[in-house]
Amino acid sequence: MRDTELYAQILGVKAPWFVDKVDLKVSENSVDIWLNHGPGERWPCPECGKLLPCRDHAGERVWRHLDTCQFKTLLHARVPRVECPEHGVHQVLVPWAEPRSRFTLLMERWIIDVLTECSTVEGSRRLLKLTWDEVWGVMERAVRRGLSRKEARPIHYLGVDEKAFRKGHSYMTIVCDLMRSTVEHVSEERKKSSLEEYYRRLSPDQLDSIRAIAMDMWEPYFTATMAHVPDAGAKIVHDRFHVMKHVNGAVDKVRKQEHKALMTQGDETLKGTKYLWLFRPENLPAKHQPTFDVLKTSTLKVAKAWAMKENLQSLWGYMSPGWGRRFFKRWIKWIDRSDLKPMKRVGQLLSRHLENILTFCRHRITNGVAEGLNSKIMSIKRKACGYSNKDHFKTAIYFFCGGLDLYPRSV
Ligand SMILES: [Zn+2]
Repeated sequence: MRDTELYAQILGVKAPWFVDKVDLKVSENSVDIWLNHGPGERWPCPECGKLLPCRDHAGERVWRHLDTCQFKTLLHARVPRVECPEHGVHQVLVPWAEPRSRFTLLMERWIIDVLTECSTVEGSRRLLKLTWDEVWGVMERAVRRGLSRKEARPIHYLGVDEKAFRKGHSYMTIVCDLMRSTVEHVSEERKKSSLEEYYRRLSPDQLDSIRAIAMDMWEPYFTATMAHVPDAGAKIVHDRFHVMKHVNGAVDKVRKQEHKALMTQGDETLKGTKYLWLFRPENLPAKHQPTFDVLKTSTLKVAKAWAMKENLQSLWGYMSPGWGRRFFKRWIKWIDRSDLKPMKRVGQLLSRHLENILTFCRHRITNGVAEGLNSKIMSIKRKACGYSNKDHFKTAIYFFCGGLDLYPRSV
């Protein structure tokens, strides 16, 4: 078998294309393959499919293919151009690559697979022996492709969360589909307009399909949702995850203040106890159990704050908003009677948002999924040593968490 036939079979080259020439450079570990086509061929216009004669050829282009027998493999061809009466002059589509790509379809699929496994551009480019820009280009194109293919499907449960970019200097808003565990949208800042950007992209049917939205008690997200989602008042859920985060914050403030006061008298009782107060009891490591048993039953202020926090957990067990409300009223009375300022402040916050905390009783959704995605996003950011700008970061989030169909058309 001649080498041109061999490579035609390896590459799956079909008429009208054929392998014209093969140049194997053993010392350079590479093989160059020239593809050509016969004369008199008619080609479809890439816009309308109308069959047209070849007008002329574009200059030679090169595509990187999967290695063959560990040889770096490059395809070369001059692509015919057609002149469509309706669409003008265009290069025709070649069966082995997408328009404007410098990789064959198989190579591009492989790069996407490696990226998915490696989860970093840097690691992938080292394995593939490509440049950062080349791998990045494939990733960007894959995301564009995936987003354009995305259908306007109904989304029943949403989670909205913020994400600090560059250590809190700026934020990004991330919208998740809680059922599919995918990132649906990423926008800059955490303003009303950040979330509106997402809602504006949804069709009226999609907006109608939303049953509940989990979010923090963050006014801009609340007002954006009220303005765009029908009957949003009954659908916004300030979920247990966010609520407890605020309450934990208050307990921690009480501890800090008390610890400071005790230390002025040389009392180190609270030293190194920060996390003991924040654990759920069932998650407290066994070695801390004896110490904490003494602490939590003491007359310390933080012990009282901790008891308040733990008591509030019962709220999440109520299936009826009415009973939940009764429970909360009792709880808030206890808080108000106390002299723990941070607890009072968080109590006021919860009171103000009570209606949309009680929606949890019915919808029972939390941003836990979004938080899971969040940690995935954090690790993307960490592994990549921080994407240099927000657009890069956005693309990476969509690539790894968007649940998109990333591959080029099948070969
Ligand atoms: Zn045309």
